[in-house]
Amino acid sequence: PFMSVIGMPWFGMDIGGTLCKLVYFEPKDISKNKNDAEVEQTLRNIRRYLTKNSAYGSTGHRDIHLQMDNVSIRGILGTLHFIRFPTSEMKNFLVLAKYKGMAKLVSTVCATGGGAYKFEEDFKREVNMKLAKFDEFESLLKGLQYIDARSPTECYYWANPTDESKCTKVNYDFSKPYPFLLVNIGSGVSVLAVYSEKNYKRISGTSIGGGTFLGLCCLLTGCNSFEEAIELAAEGDHTHVDKLVRDIYGGDYEKFGLPGDLVASSFSALCSFGQMNSRERRSKVSRQDLARATLVTITNNIGSIARMCATQEKIENVVFIGNFLRVNPIAMKMLAYAMDYWSKGTMKALFLEHEGYFGAVGCLLQFHE
Ligand code: ADP
Repeated sequence: PFMSVIGMPWFGMDIGGTLCKLVYFEPKDISKNKNDAEVEQTLRNIRRYLTKNSAYGSTGHRDIHLQMDNVSIRGILGTLHFIRFPTSEMKNFLVLAKYKGMAKLVSTVCATGGGAYKFEEDFKREVNMKLAKFDEFESLLKGLQYIDARSPTECYYWANPTDESKCTKVNYDFSKPYPFLLVNIGSGVSVLAVYSEKNYKRISGTSIGGGTFLGLCCLLTGCNSFEEAIELAAEGDHTHVDKLVRDIYGGDYEKFGLPGDLVASSFSALCSFGQMNSRERRSKVSRQDLARATLVTITNNIGSIARMCATQEKIENVVFIGNFLRVNPIAMKMLAYAMDYWSKGTMKALFLEHEGYFGAVGCLLQFHE
């Protein structure tokens, strides 16, 4: 049975509410095993298709910058490839997998996330694949430990997050991680308190997450993708949309240490505002401003929940992951600043390069255990 495991393509899948994350382990030595010639050829074709391309159809992408070479999984050396596509494309993915001959391999794919349940029947019917289902938080933590131990620059923080000219990514040694708070910002948000490798609990969450940002942003600006939403936000000014402490106090609210540029009420500048009436105000606001304000609102809310959880659990290190942080330095810097400022420097926001892929890696690692 071991030989046949080596011969099979090793996949880990995390089928989330928005994105499906697919991790493929490519062994360095293609084993000459007892597979028949047809299976051998199919395996080679799948391997070539996955590793020679970086785009699959119009919606699948391989994140080449995250690729990890020369890593070993249970004694076998190989390369980890990181691929994602919208979960809404699952039907097309299965058609493609069938076309590539997956159904002939009669194998098991490790899967986690809600889609491992939702699409179980489709996998069986379309590509004759059984899903070995793993718990998503267990997978998340296993994947995180595995990757951090093998990727020296995995963990980082943002130094000087409010000063654009001095703000930099700084490597962080996460080899002694416990305890830490794990804030996974996907479509929704989950907060885990992690005390040791095996001891963790889900302590909080919110439905106001990355999916909320994208949905509201599309509605308000007419944008059509996450990338576009982030590009718009980068050019916008949220103070045209939000009501700040200084709009209400004329400056800082010193007695309670609230700075004038703090958002007092998100999106409130569009309802009433000083000299200008609200209709005038709304007509002056740009799509960029609206995108930025949406990003600021969602991010600050998550930061605030994270900070309350960390305080309650007496934990200093808060690790933010999930694809909401993909190509999103604005949100990361805001979280970094918020954690530092409101904890008076006692808490630290940490980030990880493989932000959205830990669940998929973790369930791949549990294969045939
Ligand atoms: P889930 O498992 O719930 O799908 P993810 O960790 O994959 O969660 O994060 C999904 C979120 O990531 C989206 O709600 C969106 O905010 C953000 N995101 C980043 N890149 C993309 C993308 N290419 N398409 C859609 N959403 C994206």
